[in-house]
Amino acid sequence: MKIGTCDCCGKENIPLIRKYFRYPIQCECCLPRHFEMVRHCEDCDPEEPEKTQITLKTEDLKNPFVFAFKIMKEEMQKTRNIKGEIYYVWQSSLAVMLHYAAPKMTIERANEIAMEWLDRLFEIK
Ligand SMILES: [Zn+2]
Ligand SMILES: [Zn+2]
Repeated sequence: MKIGTCDCCGKENIPLIRKYFRYPIQCECCLPRHFEMVRHCEDCDPEEPEKTQITLKTEDLKNPFVFAFKIMKEEMQKTRNIKGEIYYVWQSSLAVMLHYAAPKMTIERANEIAMEWLDRLFEIK
């Protein structure tokens, strides 16, 4: 345990506990999502900070597609194996399109290709 100053009561040279407040936003400062960390002593129960600072790439702010894609990527990764969810919807639509364009291709093969494509696009391992 680290020794230091409590962020809440200011007591010095005491063992510190870390408390994390996590937020559902991807930033350049924390991984995988933004958080605030408070170091406190065992007597204090820290409250959530009222404000927080986030570092974002200015380049990303000018390009709304980057944010849209990040949200999409997260959804696709989360729903990879859930029937009826967004990944499945994309996969089956793609497969049907492929199957329709190339009638000799079986629907199984069309599904495989659709999944490979989506996995690569959204970096799903
Ligand atoms: Zn304290
Ligand atoms: Zn952050």
